[in-house]
Order: sequence, then C-alpha cells, then structure tokens
Amino acid sequence: MYDVLIRNGTIIDGTGGPPYAADVAVADGKIAAIGRCPCPARLVIDAAGKAVTPGFIDIHRHADAEVFREGFGTLELRQGLTTIVNGNCGLSAAPIDGPCRQAVLDYLAPITGPVKDCVPTGSLEAYLRAADHRPLHTGMLAGAGTIRAAAAGYACQALDQGQIRTIQRELERALAEGALGVSLGLGYAPECFYTTEELIAVLSVLRGTDLPVTVHMREEGDGVCEALAEMLTVARRLRVPVHISHLKAMGRRNWGGKIPRAVAMLDRARADGLDVTCDVYPYTAGSTQLIHILPPDFLTGGTRAITERLRDPARRRELAERIQSGRDFDNIAGMVGWENILCSTLGRPENRPFQGMSVADIARAQGKDPFTCACDLLVSEECAVTMIDFITDEADIARILRLPYSAVISDSTYPTAGKRHPRVYGAFPRILEKYVRQEGILTLPEAVASMTAIPADALRLRGKGRLAVGMDADINIFDPAAVREAGTYADPHRCAEGMDWVLVGGEAAIAAGVLTGARAGRSIRRQRSAASD
Ligand SMILES: [Zn+2]
Repeated sequence: MYDVLIRNGTIIDGTGGPPYAADVAVADGKIAAIGRCPCPARLVIDAAGKAVTPGFIDIHRHADAEVFREGFGTLELRQGLTTIVNGNCGLSAAPIDGPCRQAVLDYLAPITGPVKDCVPTGSLEAYLRAADHRPLHTGMLAGAGTIRAAAAGYACQALDQGQIRTIQRELERALAEGALGVSLGLGYAPECFYTTEELIAVLSVLRGTDLPVTVHMREEGDGVCEALAEMLTVARRLRVPVHISHLKAMGRRNWGGKIPRAVAMLDRARADGLDVTCDVYPYTAGSTQLIHILPPDFLTGGTRAITERLRDPARRRELAERIQSGRDFDNIAGMVGWENILCSTLGRPENRPFQGMSVADIARAQGKDPFTCACDLLVSEECAVTMIDFITDEADIARILRLPYSAVISDSTYPTAGKRHPRVYGAFPRILEKYVRQEGILTLPEAVASMTAIPADALRLRGKGRLAVGMDADINIFDPAAVREAGTYADPHRCAEGMDWVLVGGEAAIAAGVLTGARAGRSIRRQRSAASD
C-alpha cells in the first residue's frame, strides 16, 4: 500500500531529459516507484494532462526571519517551492553573538525584515532546530559577513590573526551544525573590506572540501569580470566549489558585453576542472538596501555611523563628487540613473507618500537634486530604506538562463512594510510563463532542471531535485500552460496561480489547488555522506 499514487501524468524528472508518461508512487516520504504502479494507495491523484516535476528549489532567498512569521509558506508553496535556502550574500541571521549583535540585526533589517526575538540567532543549530516542521524545507548558509561583523564589527581594517581565527572558528562551528556552505557578500560591508589574500586566508578552513562557497561578488557592473576573476582565483587556490550568486551586468554601458565575457570565463574554468556554477533571477530589477548606492568605504561602522556621516556637509560634498564621476566602485546611481532607483520601503510617516517612487521623482516633488534627496531619505530613515533598482538587460538574463549550470533564484527580500519586489511571489512561475511559453528561451524540461536538479547539485542537497526512486517525495503537479505570475511591480503582493498539487516530503501542502496547512517541511542540514542520508 502506497501513501500516494500519482497517475497518468507526464514526468519531467528534473534532469533536463525528455518528458515521459508514467505513474509515481510515494511511501514514507520517498518516491517508491515510477512506471506502472499497480498497488493501491491511500491517496490517488489523477494527473492526466498535467506535468509532474520535482518540487522547485530556491537556493537564494533572504527569508531568514520570514520563516518564523505568521503565514510563512503560502506565497512560496503557491509558486511550487518545496525547499528554500536562506543566509545568502553573507547576511545570515545566525550565528550572531557578541557586542555587535544589534548592529548586525539593524544591518539585516532592510533585507530580511525585522529579526524579532522569536528568531534564534545565537547558533546555526538553534536556528535549524526552530526552522523544523514548517510548510516547506529550509536550509541555511553560514553568512560570512554576519560572522565577520560579529567578530570585528563594520570597520574598514586589515584583520589581525586573532580575528581571522575567530571568524574561522565560527565558520567551522556553523558548518558542523549543518550549514549547507558559506555565503559571501563582497559587495557589502564589512566583507567589501577583505583583500583577496585575506579572503583566501579566512576561507582556508574549507580547503579541499566539497563545501560550496556562494558569493555576491565585489562588483556586478563595470568590474564584474574582474570580480569573477577574483572568485575563480579563490576556487583554484582552495579547490572548493564556488557558486556565483545572481550573476548580472549592471548598467546599460555593460549590457551585452560583460556577460558573454563572464560566461566564457566560467566555461573555461569548468573545462579546466573547477567546480563553478551560477544563478540568476528572472527580472531586470534587483532589490537591496538603498545604502548600496554609496561606495563601500563609506559603509564602515554600521548604519548609525553611516547616518552620522551623511549628515556632515563636507562628507556629502565629497560623496556627491564620487557618485557623479565614480568608476572605482559599483556606482549604481551613476550606472543606471536616479530614475531607475525606486524607494520601495520608507518607514517614517512623512516619507510614506513617496514610497514606490523613483529617487528622481521624489527629488522633483521635493524641489531637491536627486543626490541630496537620496541622502536626506537615508538620514531620516537611519539607512533603513529598501530600493528596487532597474539594472540589467533581458538579453543578458536569457544568456545566463540558458547555461546548463545556471540555477533560477528569486533573491527574495522580505521587508515587512512597503512594496516588495514581485519576484518574492512569482519568480518560478515567471520562468514557465515568460521564458518557456511566451519567449521560448528555455524548453520546459530545461526550465524545470534550472529550478530543481541544478540548484540541488550546486548546494549538494542530497535526495532533492530529481524524480527518481529513493528521492524525497517533494513533487509538483500542474498544467504547464496555466501556471502564471500574478504580481507586478505596481501591485506585487499577489500569489502565483496554477499549482494544483504540491507535495512536501510526501504530504500534500497544496491539494487540488487548496492549501492544506500541512507542516511537513524539515530543516535541511548538510550531510557528510550519502550513507547518513
Ligand atoms: Zn546578493
């Protein structure tokens, strides 16, 4: 007797191979059989005319705090997600300890939303224990930025041996407690202060292991290829898998030129035997803190120190000059223009009317120049401003999506106020709707692979990402012609449509289009070998 039998469906197994007709049987949370399954089952699902795929995997979310909020899981399950990974871009909500704890939490807030006391931040072990039994599976990366900030604050400094040892010990502890790998945020403070040699020294605890390092690179605009070269050096020197997060080329002058070069570098490194992979989100706009329009060296000392500096007229003049002419950092305002930077979350009542408007439009309304307007907003909000910035090119996105080693991600951030980026609700259905059905950039099996087996392989998620006997029974059933993203930039807070059934660990989390409230999601810990699976 099986627990579930899915009959008459079309299997798209996650490998990218051709679809085929078969039944899928589930027992004890695993896939028990694929083919003709004559045994009876407690639940029989007729999937005639539907695709049957592995559950989708988003290895790049910032749901570190969201996992513990009321209602978590709805918008994720509605787009077919059965597994997410948090702690990205160096910004994990655990482990955070020591005197800098509050500074780290303030820094995370525009990305993760407020990290309340119900989120266990002291250790990966405590975090993962608490993240168990949620509507979907949750894994975590050890955020090396969080760990550096907790050990050495946000100062721009060369680290001493003692500080390097402390960071290494914390990384080792987080990995021993189940982190899936280490995430870096080299575009963010305080990790932007690393030299390449320091970075290699800190990461040397991973040397020769199979532990992936995921990286938000130092630059993603004019300097993206140099930033990639740095990470290929890290991969070569330490012999570790390196996964490039949200690969992109920001700024019109970089479109069409930088990504083909970056792809050639990745292809060559892979041909040389390096384990390098990447991912991409399917939108031309990103979203992060507004402070990232500032040069990295301006970001020392945490959000309070940045606010103080922005109040200082002399520092502002200096800053204005650098943003006007600067090519020595990821100068987002310079590369994309103030009209392409929207302030998506503004907390103070006097700023609320401007929420969702571009800096250029807010400046016009306030009778200021855009630079002064942006600085004033940052000061009045003490840096807690989230932006949505239109930075990349559709043709570049398509180039990256087509790579056989590129995963789809959302890079969802979870501010609790204001307008979220529509990718939080719809990144995965958007792949099926826009890039498969409307534009034909990917075939359906390629698209499914980029949302299942490819991300699972990048982070070594054993048992996930493929429909095969013995794999975890995380399964989606849907009409590939009907799945759609419902949110937009103007009206983002809408769940995607079209997932008929979503099984998490063999239990129906969505049954015939209805959320069941099941909490079969487990926290995923790194496993050392297949035997311990
Ligand atoms: Zn990032």
